[in-house]
Amino acid sequence: MFTESEGIVLRQTKIAGGRRMIYIFTKKFGKISAGTQLNERGRGKQALAVRPFTYSNFQFFKKGDYININSAETIRSFYHIGEDVDKYMNASYALELTDKLVADDEPAPGLFNLTVDLLSEMEAREKKFETLLLGYEVKALKQVGILPELEICTRCGEEKQPAFFSIKDGGIICGDCLKATNDSLIYPFDFGIINVLKFYLSHPLESLKNLALEDDVAKRTLKMMTEHAKYHLDFGELKSEAFITG
Ligand SMILES: [Zn+2]
Repeated sequence: MFTESEGIVLRQTKIAGGRRMIYIFTKKFGKISAGTQLNERGRGKQALAVRPFTYSNFQFFKKGDYININSAETIRSFYHIGEDVDKYMNASYALELTDKLVADDEPAPGLFNLTVDLLSEMEAREKKFETLLLGYEVKALKQVGILPELEICTRCGEEKQPAFFSIKDGGIICGDCLKATNDSLIYPFDFGIINVLKFYLSHPLESLKNLALEDDVAKRTLKMMTEHAKYHLDFGELKSEAFITG
């Protein structure tokens, strides 16, 4: 059966016979893996379309569980992301995270559009990439239904001044409830960052253009959000994590 979809190339691996397996977050089908003869090092236009970060339109042939990419045409390459190592690592972090958040063969068009926005904003941004990455992460967690509780204490349900963030409880906890726990997966939580996270949730990524968080605040909060996602979706360390928040 022939079919087609827009998609973002997440990663690729070599397989037997000079072929490659391309992992694609498609708009229509969610995450899929598809075999191809197309080689990213080739010179053709189609080779460019299967490089990581590229947003392309793919024509597939499906037979049972097997999918082959028959042809691919680049919509946007986000080429400039590769020109700055910091920007590149932040974008890699976003795609690695997306790879973990999106399920195989389950469409997630909202998260797909958000990921295209992220790549577009990251390409255009000149500094403070973690501010944008954090905005993407918190919006992506909301899309897949694991946004942490940010309004009330997850233990007592009261709207007290939050002081800590509990990974296991999935959100903020108050000082009183902290005293009653000896849990190790608890981070001190800066009250101001909650308002930043709420701002992210109610605005599109493009409105973060002029927002710049202090590096240590952005990195600490990113780490907390990613630890939260890892715990609740059960996945391990991202490869780019050590570079960004390590
Ligand atoms: Zn409490």
